Amino acid sequence: MSSPQMDEWNGKVALVTGAASGIGRATASAFAERGVAVLVADIDEAGGEATVNSINEIGGRGEFFPLDVASDAQVSAMVERCVERFGGLDYALNNAGIEGDGSVGLADLAEDEWDRIMAVNLKGVWLCMKHEIPHMSQRGGGAIVNSSSVAGLRGSRASNVAYSASKYGILGMTKTAALQQASQNIRINAICPGLIDTAMSRRALQKTENVSQVASAIPLGRWGAAEDIARAVTWLCSEQASYITGAALPIDGGMSA
Ligand code: NAD
Repeated sequence: MSSPQMDEWNGKVALVTGAASGIGRATASAFAERGVAVLVADIDEAGGEATVNSINEIGGRGEFFPLDVASDAQVSAMVERCVERFGGLDYALNNAGIEGDGSVGLADLAEDEWDRIMAVNLKGVWLCMKHEIPHMSQRGGGAIVNSSSVAGLRGSRASNVAYSASKYGILGMTKTAALQQASQNIRINAICPGLIDTAMSRRALQKTENVSQVASAIPLGRWGAAEDIARAVTWLCSEQASYITGAALPIDGGMSA
């Protein structure tokens, strides 16, 4: 039996970048469980197809689109494909990201690594919003969530400086975009996950010396699961969060408190 809460998702369409793995995959699945059609976008083709297969297994609607979010032309093609395939766009999680090497200090960071991290993490989120917003506007509104991090709220010795700069940048861009799009009924928020158990965090922690220090600093006493983030993202996109825009929501077990 459908409930008013489930009805709000009927006929809706979501786009999730970085959906081949971790937080993006869990969020794509969470949308699909609610009956939302999902464009699964990622640079990793095998992982993206696996996400679509898991959506199909639960009777959901999903399609994979391979892209590099740092390319304007590819991001434009992704959004066009989503609209062509599913008829519009209501929700987006702009989430594709790379962590860089957290063990490399500021003075040793190569210029091309700085450029690539900024291109994927920061420019990629801008490009996604640039192409998503006109379609949401045509639809009379929408909700966008951008993946920042606790590394966008405070410094960390374990973070690559470019990663940190990109995640702070996402918060500034999110707030300005939220103000610019509010009159079009497009809500734009950012999430700031803490230590979430995904391929990225496991890679990152292996490269730093203070693994146990970071893990033991979580007040709730556990790593987060990708599903913890997915629930927050679908909530931010839902009517329950209809008065929230321009927010940076920590989902971090209390790490940033
Ligand atoms: P993940 O590595 O499991 O997933 C990231 C996905 O992004 C991968 O599937 C990867 O293929 C994709 N990707 C990378 N570069 C891309 C590109 N140029 N174009 C398209 N896709 C690309 O990592 P995750 O932990 O799920 O992270 C998702 C987001 O959450 C990232 O933006 C990350 O910075 C952020 N985040 C993660 C944590 C954590 O603890 N895991 C904490 C804070 C923020």
